[in-house]
Amino acid sequence: MARLDMPRSWLRAVGLTVLAMLVLARAFMPGEHLPDVGGEPLPLSVVPQPDAVGRVPALGHEGRALLLGVGEGSRSARAELRFEIPPRTPESPQWVLWMRRVPVESLKVGVDGAWQGGERSFLQPDAEHVPLPVGYAYRLPSSWEGEIRLQLSATAMRTTALQPEVMTEARYDREVQRTTLLNAFGYASVFTLGVIGLALFFASRDQSFLWYFVFCLSAGLLMAAFDGHAYLFDPFGLTVVLGGAGMHAVSLVFEVAALWVLLDYAETRQSRPLLESAVNHACVLLLLMAGILLAWRQALDGFSAWFMPMTWLGGCIVGVVVTVDAWRRRVPMALPVLFSVLAMGTGMLAWELASRGVVGGTLWTLYGYQAALMLSAAMLGAGLISRISKYREQRDREQRARADSERRMYREAVRTELLTALQTSLRGAVEDNIQPIVFRHLLEHLRRVVPTTTAVAVARGYHGRDTLVVQPASYLAEVEETIGQRLQALRRQMGGSLELQRPVTKTGANVPVAIEALVALPVRPPAWGMIVLERAGATVFHPDELIVVRELARLALLQADEAIAALHLRYTAEVDALTGALNRRSLDQALLRTFQEASRKSAPLSVLFVDIDRFKSVNDQHGHACGDHCLREVARVINEQLNEDDVFGRYGGEEFLVILPGRQSEMARAIAENIRAALEGTSIEYQEVVLALSVSIGVASQIQGETLPQPAVDRADKALYAAKHAGRNRVNVAPAVFAPRSTPA
Ligand code: GH3
Ligand code: MG
Ligand code: MG
Repeated sequence: MARLDMPRSWLRAVGLTVLAMLVLARAFMPGEHLPDVGGEPLPLSVVPQPDAVGRVPALGHEGRALLLGVGEGSRSARAELRFEIPPRTPESPQWVLWMRRVPVESLKVGVDGAWQGGERSFLQPDAEHVPLPVGYAYRLPSSWEGEIRLQLSATAMRTTALQPEVMTEARYDREVQRTTLLNAFGYASVFTLGVIGLALFFASRDQSFLWYFVFCLSAGLLMAAFDGHAYLFDPFGLTVVLGGAGMHAVSLVFEVAALWVLLDYAETRQSRPLLESAVNHACVLLLLMAGILLAWRQALDGFSAWFMPMTWLGGCIVGVVVTVDAWRRRVPMALPVLFSVLAMGTGMLAWELASRGVVGGTLWTLYGYQAALMLSAAMLGAGLISRISKYREQRDREQRARADSERRMYREAVRTELLTALQTSLRGAVEDNIQPIVFRHLLEHLRRVVPTTTAVAVARGYHGRDTLVVQPASYLAEVEETIGQRLQALRRQMGGSLELQRPVTKTGANVPVAIEALVALPVRPPAWGMIVLERAGATVFHPDELIVVRELARLALLQADEAIAALHLRYTAEVDALTGALNRRSLDQALLRTFQEASRKSAPLSVLFVDIDRFKSVNDQHGHACGDHCLREVARVINEQLNEDDVFGRYGGEEFLVILPGRQSEMARAIAENIRAALEGTSIEYQEVVLALSVSIGVASQIQGETLPQPAVDRADKALYAAKHAGRNRVNVAPAVFAPRSTPA
């Protein structure tokens, strides 16, 4: 668990809980918003009466509370209540004898022979029954005045102190209101929190919430048992049967539930296995004890009256240890929960002290534990709920990771598809088409991973060419018009290879209509290029998207570079470096191909054998460099006389061969003549030297049935030699059948 990420939510939760508690406390402060009824309770003295064996019950809390079941004392006790009702007037209030609802099996008051107040019990509804009874009340006859002596007899369920008071009905009503409100609030809060816990358990499947639900449930049970409301949901009268032992058993069950939820809450299971197992063992013992108490409730009565406070004390100590440990480990809300554990301990202590008559039985001493219980439930709830943000973060993280990997996979797929598409479509492409093909595929694939309205790829001077590709292509004209003006500015703006984004505003409007992103193309200066993406709306391009653009662009350019390099390599392998004509090897291949094609199609085909006249003397007189220059010039002149379909190559030395597909010998002779004449009319200049060169040309045509070029080439060669022999600078057509070559003189 991260040390510094205490969620702010839990601070808020603590704040709200404390605020709610303050408001609640204020609501129960005497005489605040409930009308001030004035009139103190009448002074009353409790005079204990001896029982049948002469035992006199003790008094507690400044002699105002009758103690029941204390020590060796009997659980049944009698006392006389002495007080004086003021003389009657028309405004005289109705007087009520009231005792807070402490666990007594039966309670009777009366004046011997004159008035009987009826029986009240902690275990049953009574005559004064209200939905949530909070005390035992007797309306005193309105005719009474002067000194009154009331007989009180009670049988306790456990050690307890009865504290009778005589007060006006208005004051009694207010006491009932306050106590009922606290009770109702207690039940409502543990019920609501329990239901929330259950809902959260089903939502998160986290066991802690189930324990929390059990905690709230047993807290509700505890309240019902301690406030004497258990009979309200007890159709089998179990509360009557179990009596005080039932109360103790419920208190033990609650303690176990509280400890278990605390262990879970403090994540003690993971970090303090020893402490956890010790507490678990103690909890099992407590449950066992609860069973024993119920089974031998009569015999263990006196013992359980001491055992229960001891277990509460022990439980509080364990609770403090666990929460302090959790606080050290920075478990959220540990400190507030520690305080609520202390509050609960204090509340139970007050309850126990009031039961023993050490302190008076007031709203806070008898119900304080209940307020502390609500506080604990709220704090534990807030603490557990703060964990939900942890689950959510974890789930969000997982979702993000999944979406991320899906996106990466999709991008990878698009990358692979782009690569395949480029490799397929670049096969056999000529150099002029390579860049348009590459950029078109690049943009098409880009738009699948980076949604855009338009995408433009611009390159200037890349492999000596300028390219502009637009997707969708229908925007080309528009883009061509606007981008032309912006290009240089854009280029300066890029200032390197950084991506740029900016809002696009329409002329005349000041609200952006789109976002534009620029990504530089990684090409070698002085060439440059960029991709301009435009996306309608206000969604900016995520850095990741721009990274993808750069990646795919790099991939595409790499493919373009490779394709162009391959073309160049092929070119140098096929072309004669000096003259730019085909080299001998490609010429041989072309001969073979064209002869086979012509014979297949039965189309005419002729070849010209061209040889420069007296070239050796050029080399001899002006040097080899001049000779090379002449070779280039001659090649250029010959090439100028040819069509696109004609094949022209350097056969060797200063000899060239021309293949003329589709020409019979007469047409070939005309072309040869053109070549000869063109060269005759060309003066070649080389460093102040002006040279006039001539060529002799032998012409031969394919004869029907010939599939191989060599015979025709030989005939052309022979015709050439004949031309040389005849005086050079002329064209000679070979007859269909030639005499064996004769060496010229
Ligand atoms: P003819 O009119 O009989 O053809 O006379 P010629 O001198 O052209 O005949 P020959 O075949 O004897 O000489 C060819 C010369 O071409 C020999 C060589 O010096 C020159 N030559 C061949 N290849 C090259 C080349 O690549 N560069 C240069 N500068 N000269 C070359
Ligand atoms: Mg020669
Ligand atoms: Mg020659």
